[in-house]
Amino acid sequence: MIREEKNCWKIELLGVRGSMAVTPSEYREFGSDTLCVRIEAGETVIFLDAGSGIMYGKAAPKTHILIGHPHLDHLVGLCKWNELADPSNKMTLYMAEHGGQSCEEILHTLYGPPFWPVHLEEISKGLEYKTIDGTFTIGGVTIETLDGNHPGGVTHFKLTDGKRSVVYAVDCELTSKAAKDLEQFAKGCDLLICDGQLTEEDAAQKRGWGHSTLNQGASLGERCGAKETVLVHFDPFATDEQLRALESELVRRYPKSALGRQGEIRYV
Ligand SMILES: [Zn+2]
Ligand SMILES: [Zn+2]
Repeated sequence: MIREEKNCWKIELLGVRGSMAVTPSEYREFGSDTLCVRIEAGETVIFLDAGSGIMYGKAAPKTHILIGHPHLDHLVGLCKWNELADPSNKMTLYMAEHGGQSCEEILHTLYGPPFWPVHLEEISKGLEYKTIDGTFTIGGVTIETLDGNHPGGVTHFKLTDGKRSVVYAVDCELTSKAAKDLEQFAKGCDLLICDGQLTEEDAAQKRGWGHSTLNQGASLGERCGAKETVLVHFDPFATDEQLRALESELVRRYPKSALGRQGEIRYV
């Protein structure tokens, strides 16, 4: 059981929706905003992805933002995140190379004319871009990476300080090879945050889209021995009622799994 304790990491789900933010009232329980998770590991603050959910995230004097891949639903929040403009926050953005372009090249293109009026480094003084390749550290947190199965590529992250580990693996299609690699990577983690965009009915029609079913995510969590598995990246058309029904079915089979809700806080 994950519970609040002194010296725990605080994990905040700021956005759990995939592909596109949604606003109607039937999406209120699971939330409307796209992917973003904030981790407070002592003094170290790390954001995973920068979907529209990042707009509700509190930065720290030194804030690190890890982007799994440059699809818009994982980056769109940066354009309206007020914390970026606060001169007391020093921001660093991390992403692997995609299509032969560095983290800086990709973000400089997306955030700049003609797509956006200003570049991120004009908004955030001292902003740094880091193109990642393999394991690196931030403060006392070691971050291991794994290439996932998604159109254009995606990076999965494992964060650990030797006492606990959190694996973030969204936008992944769990074919048997991808599932095997991820199972090894996430072995024994405390918390697995995994893609669960598809229902079983969707899966056959959406092969090659780079997403997994709720059952595939939950089953992976069980096989790798994750203490808790949280499924995210829900389809923009999945209503609260549908997601609640899918969750109650899933939990009967996989009691350590749950569907993430925007605003939810966990401690590991
Ligand atoms: Zn996505
Ligand atoms: Zn994607």
